[in-house]
Amino acid sequence: MAFEGLAERLQGTIQKIKGKGKVSEQDVKAMMREVRLALIEADVNLKVVKDFVKKVSERAVGSEVMKSLTPGQQVIKIVQDELTSLMGGEQSPIKFNSKPPTVIMMVGLQGAGKTTTTGKLANVLRKKYNRKPLLVAADIYRPAAIQQLETLGKQLSIPVFALGNNVSPVEIARQAIEHAKEEHLDVVIIDTAGRLHIDEELMDELKNIKALKEPDEVFLVVDAMTGQDAVNVAQSFNETVGITGVVLTKLDGDTRGGAALSIRAVTEKPIKFVGMGEKMDALEPFHPERMASRILG
Ligand code: GDP
Repeated sequence: MAFEGLAERLQGTIQKIKGKGKVSEQDVKAMMREVRLALIEADVNLKVVKDFVKKVSERAVGSEVMKSLTPGQQVIKIVQDELTSLMGGEQSPIKFNSKPPTVIMMVGLQGAGKTTTTGKLANVLRKKYNRKPLLVAADIYRPAAIQQLETLGKQLSIPVFALGNNVSPVEIARQAIEHAKEEHLDVVIIDTAGRLHIDEELMDELKNIKALKEPDEVFLVVDAMTGQDAVNVAQSFNETVGITGVVLTKLDGDTRGGAALSIRAVTEKPIKFVGMGEKMDALEPFHPERMASRILG
């Protein structure tokens, strides 16, 4: 299960302070040493760990806590609050264009789960938001990508716009948006190329698609299992192309949690959805508060 190690360690640590009728500065320090180690072990970005520990420590030794009747529980509440705010605080909704179609670009490296997530997102948009999505096959480089998207479209009964792999992705995106207007489809989801590494060509292509019509959302799909790498990828994409949110996939696996806890703080972009499996209904909105509760038990 995801976050298992982190949850176990944090829960063990806060258990010690929970019932205390009096909490000294020493107690807080001892606890924060353990919290720090637990976060580092979970592969959380070092600067993020440092800032987090500092914030919690400052609040926990404050007079309001020390004087309260249940200081142990106050400290735990502070950890919970700060963990929630670290992950973005509120759940971040999808931004729709008031003048359809809304354009959503899906970007990411190969294997992160981009094409699968594109299908899942279309499914969510139709089922939960009552929208009429159009899937756009703009990954013309990976041989099976177009076919993979067409198969998903068929499975979901959601239309797929494809022009083969001899037309440029920018042209495919342009025609797809026109097609959506004609057919009154209100959300265009563009599955862009995923490469093995971040390279200039990939970034330029994404920028060119983006220049066509400013997308309402640019979702970066990253694999939670890759920890710090996912955070670095997010930072690069955000700096070069500009993203509006992140979809963190494979959270059903046994990820240590580093990416989930670091991405928001490092990129200042919210995690919008999490992938919880391979099936088309395994995409959930990301709720920072619920995630913090899950980790702290
Ligand atoms: P792409 O190269 O980024 O388009 O990646 P794909 O969409 O082809 O996904 C790569 C693999 O990851 C596939 O086997 C997917 O089924 C799998 N995958 C994607 N999202 C998830 C997820 O949330 N959980 C799990 N367990 N597997 C996933």
